[in-house]
Amino acid sequence: MNKVLITGGTGYVGSHTAVEFIEAGFEVVIIDNLSNSKIEVLDRIEKITGVKPEFHEFDLSDNQKTADFFQKNKNFDVIIHFAAYKAVGESVQKPLMYYRNNLNSLMNILQGMKDYQIENLIFSSSCTVYGQPEKLPVTEKSPIIKANSPYGNTKQIAEEIIFDTINSTKNLKSIALRYFNPIGAHKSALIGELPLGVPNNLIPYVTQTVAGIREQLSVFGDDYNTPDGTAIRDYIHVVDLAKAHLVASERLISNKNKTNFETFNIGTGNGNSVMEIINTFEEVTGKKINYKISPRREGDIEQVWADTTYANKELGWKTELSLADALLSSWNWQKKLMS
Ligand code: UDP
Repeated sequence: MNKVLITGGTGYVGSHTAVEFIEAGFEVVIIDNLSNSKIEVLDRIEKITGVKPEFHEFDLSDNQKTADFFQKNKNFDVIIHFAAYKAVGESVQKPLMYYRNNLNSLMNILQGMKDYQIENLIFSSSCTVYGQPEKLPVTEKSPIIKANSPYGNTKQIAEEIIFDTINSTKNLKSIALRYFNPIGAHKSALIGELPLGVPNNLIPYVTQTVAGIREQLSVFGDDYNTPDGTAIRDYIHVVDLAKAHLVASERLISNKNKTNFETFNIGTGNGNSVMEIINTFEEVTGKKINYKISPRREGDIEQVWADTTYANKELGWKTELSLADALLSSWNWQKKLMS
């Protein structure tokens, strides 16, 4: 049985990925410091899969604790590294906290991989590395432009750290998955996105508004150069995203990678505007969203969506779930949270 270490495995994308790996027959070990997730997620994973993953609670940016962990636990076929802070606005306020957490944890993991000959790493990267691309859809060959937040910069620097470490380490290899906008929840509605406080992201804000937790959704800008004036993103169902980690892991484990550091765009290949999201959500749930048009949000780009040709061809992966599936599952998750 292949064994996977999932850091940040009680978080949003991590928990969905843990479920997919257990269902694919992997032994799953999770590390999380629960800074942005709840321990109950482990029971939820067990409810879905019948298996409760082995769990270690500690902070991966702690050098000693991480070294101690790897000394005792080293026989992983692959490590999937999710554990990181991810709020763009907060990263502008607290850059050192972001650099320290996101980069130290990565370096501690790479050190463990070097020390104990763990060969395969999947890294959670982001389409934020492309900024506002000149050409759309954006391919993996598009230039990496200067990040406009410390959060975005941690993803760029992390990819460079991985690249340099691989170049200096025999047998180490990695795939960075550049996520577009993950949304939705598992069909069981037992796991999903659990934002602390006021959500920054569009979909949790939408579901909380419909649930009456927030009064009104602000649509940030309707004067963009897009067909309806609102900004465009590539919204991917979190379960499709989780499955991309599975195929990427299998690629590394079976040595099918072409180079020792590969990057893939993980999106749907479709762009949807904020207004399209609102309209589709209303259609599939039958609920009305109370919204108003507000000024643009600082730092937002106008439009981005993925060219997924390379991921589809090389990984043999493609999305299976629609935007409607994703939005409905988000609403079902929100309802379950309130029940
Ligand atoms: N957005 C919005 N209102 C909100 C939150 C987000 O209009 O309350 C817009 C945001 O401006 C962007 C899109 O929804 O165009 C997706 O934003 P999100 O924060 O979910 O992801 P991002 O692409 O910024 O990482």
